[in-house]
Amino acid sequence: MSAGDKPGPVPPGNTGGRPRIDLHTHSTASDGTLTPADLVRAARQAGLDVLALTDHDTTAGWEPATAARPAGLTLVRGAELSCRWYGTEPSIPLHLLGYLFDPHSPELVAELARVRAAREVRGERIVAMLCADGVDIDWAEIRIAAAGGTVGRPHIAQALIRAGVVATTDEAFTPNWLGERYRLPKDDIDVFRAVRLVRQAGGVPVMAHPRATRRGRTVPDSLIVELAAAGLAGLEAEHEDHSPVERDAVRALAGELGLLVTGSSDFHGTHKSVRLGAHTTGLEAYERIVAAASGVPVLTDRD
Ligand code: AMP
Ligand code: ZN
Ligand code: FE
Ligand code: FE
Repeated sequence: MSAGDKPGPVPPGNTGGRPRIDLHTHSTASDGTLTPADLVRAARQAGLDVLALTDHDTTAGWEPATAARPAGLTLVRGAELSCRWYGTEPSIPLHLLGYLFDPHSPELVAELARVRAAREVRGERIVAMLCADGVDIDWAEIRIAAAGGTVGRPHIAQALIRAGVVATTDEAFTPNWLGERYRLPKDDIDVFRAVRLVRQAGGVPVMAHPRATRRGRTVPDSLIVELAAAGLAGLEAEHEDHSPVERDAVRALAGELGLLVTGSSDFHGTHKSVRLGAHTTGLEAYERIVAAASGVPVLTDRD
């Protein structure tokens, strides 16, 4: 990607060359396995210059990540919002990355709390279904393992591994298990409302892995066109769940709609095999996000 004519401010900590920018990662504040503090340290060790912390439906990791931010790493505070498009039957779940929004924005705070509560209800129901079929796992134990972080299927997957019914997280996500048979919908945020709430809080909304067909149904281009008109700022193209053809399609659509394009690892620690920085975002797209945000600033060595 071209960085444009003017060089723009290179993120602090960049030691020369192209900065390495990873805009989508998870910590123990949701379903990652590194604490927010360990995550920011690991990011710098992995040679990243910019890291976004984007836990599912929570900003709980922002403070510990901020406190532990190593010199040379710019921290972008964000979240991955569990959304749903209700304009089709059955409705389709999708993920919206929100960057640099005000974490105290009342409506957004309320929606995130509601979705986290909905995840608990859904998680308990999934566990009940599994127990009814003779799988010996325990919801209370799963909640303890999640340690207050936003609970999700990866936590249930670990319980299935502990119970010895599957060998790996990947196997736990196959159709026989959490991928389909024991998959229940969550009461997610309407995606148009989510875009509006992120913008209202001064944040920048980017759709995560919009063409990840291996995760299930994806939304049509026409919806992305409507979301762009409603305030969506960008699309994540470089993601491990996108094939090369899907990445190209996302880039082409973003180009048509004037949306920025990101790339990221969607790192989850040992819950997934992908490494930090496996996919990255270009400086120009990063700068567009920062320029469009007014909720909270990025955190750099100047702070
Ligand atoms: P949930 O948010 O509870 O619906 O769970 C979805 C989460 O599981 C997402 O963060 C995905 O990154 C993660 N996930 C989906 N498929 C897999 C997989 N095969 N292995 C590990 N994590 C996965
Ligand atoms: Zn996750
Ligand atoms: Fe996601
Ligand atoms: Fe994610």
